[in-house]
Amino acid sequence: MIGTEVLVVGGGLAGSVASLSAAREGAQVTLVSKSESTLQQASGLVDVLGRVDGDLVADPFAAIENLADDHPYSVVGTDALRGGLALLDDVAGDRYRGGDRNALVPTTQGTVKPTLRYPASVAPGVAGDGRETLLVGISTDPDFDAKRAAESLDGTVPGDVRGVTVRFPRLRDDAKRTRYAKLLTEDDEFRDALVEKIAPKVDGADRVGFPAVFGEDPAFVRAELEERFDAAGEPVSVFEVPTGPPSIPGTRLRDLLRHELEAAGVELVTGVPVVDFEAEPAADGNDASELVTKVVVDRNGARVPYAPEQVVLATGGLVGEGIDSERDRVYEPIFDLHVPHPEDRYDWSAEGAFGDHAFARFGVRIDTDGRALDAGGAVAFENLRAAGAVVGGADTAAQKAASGVSLATGWRAGTRAATAVNQS
Ligand SMILES: Cc1cc2nc3c(=O)[nH]c(=O)nc-3n(C[C@H](O)[C@H](O)[C@H](O)COP(=O)(O)OP(=O)(O)OC[C@H]3O[C@@H](n4cnc5c(N)ncnc54)[C@H](O)[C@@H]3O)c2cc1C
Repeated sequence: MIGTEVLVVGGGLAGSVASLSAAREGAQVTLVSKSESTLQQASGLVDVLGRVDGDLVADPFAAIENLADDHPYSVVGTDALRGGLALLDDVAGDRYRGGDRNALVPTTQGTVKPTLRYPASVAPGVAGDGRETLLVGISTDPDFDAKRAAESLDGTVPGDVRGVTVRFPRLRDDAKRTRYAKLLTEDDEFRDALVEKIAPKVDGADRVGFPAVFGEDPAFVRAELEERFDAAGEPVSVFEVPTGPPSIPGTRLRDLLRHELEAAGVELVTGVPVVDFEAEPAADGNDASELVTKVVVDRNGARVPYAPEQVVLATGGLVGEGIDSERDRVYEPIFDLHVPHPEDRYDWSAEGAFGDHAFARFGVRIDTDGRALDAGGAVAFENLRAAGAVVGGADTAAQKAASGVSLATGWRAGTRAATAVNQS
């Protein structure tokens, strides 16, 4: 049996924040995860609360006051969100920007996304100051139609937006984004040739946006490109436009977190799904309360048991395998935690793609301490907390709140798990 003070299950944003929060409180933490999380598919933007009932939110902290009582933010409180954001700010340092009000970040789809934290490489593109923008698409990357995106943005944000598609020099048609990133980072001649192609199209624009392919060191690539535009007589700010998967900014955020977890002494064990657990009555004599005593992972077919003092479940939502469903039930597959849902499966979804879907709010419910609740609203296990998309009660995709909920619930679960360890 492998002992650990805090066992975190799941290596996404929520599990990483829970692990770091607990480790920074002095707990010994082991993080086990089955596979990669959604981080490298995500945009790298940290959305906290961008929309409520379809309306844009400018100040997420003010808007949180009016959310339903069972929304994860209402349950864990804004201090948990502040705690999670402070941790992220500390980890990201000058690589991220943002304050207490949402910024509108242009996307490759030609929309603007209300977000609270965004990579520094994205910052010069934030909409709202009326500066003229040129978007540059890559002819071999069909996911970013720069002309279409620019047409759509031109009508919605202050300042002219134009789009142009160029063929990047020396790239095969099937080149991956990581290949563009490598050339942009390492090859002077490639950067020269690229700016030579684009400079004649700048035509007085103040900034030039590229799909987010600037690699591991976007500050370096931006500076190199800006220097060349300057030399060509077209001084501009260069920025990245977040893309869909595979996302280089999402991968950067994953790597930042991983580096910080290692630095904080968190033991990272990957490729090991949790497959089983054992519990026993808690020692406090309350018949109804139980403690998780053993968590079993599958390591290449071998069952490896952990004996944690505290557990944080951060296995993701319907997308991330943390919540599953059959024809007639929705469930949490490891601890069989209660997941409220309508009896009739026809009520799980509403009409229309953007309807008020019950499935979007599926997830386990937690108390203010982050502990998972049973069907009667009581604590399911004294030492089991849940964080991130496995927690239900909000349509975080519609509200543009997914990362914020992971920060708030992850921070709450991690700090309280560490407190429980320190008090034991
Ligand atoms: C395509 C996409 C785009 C997104 N874009 C944005 C965006 O623009 N802005 C934003 O704020 N958020 C965005 N998000 C949401 C965000 O990336 C996270 O999904 C969200 O914060 C939830 O993270 P999580 O840590 O709870 O879950 P996940 O990221 O899903 O991580 C779950 C982890 O649990 C592990 N796991 C699952 N089951 C087990 C098991 N049995 N045993 C051990 N480990 C297990 C998985 O392997 C994984 O490591 C996006 C998500 C997706 C999918």
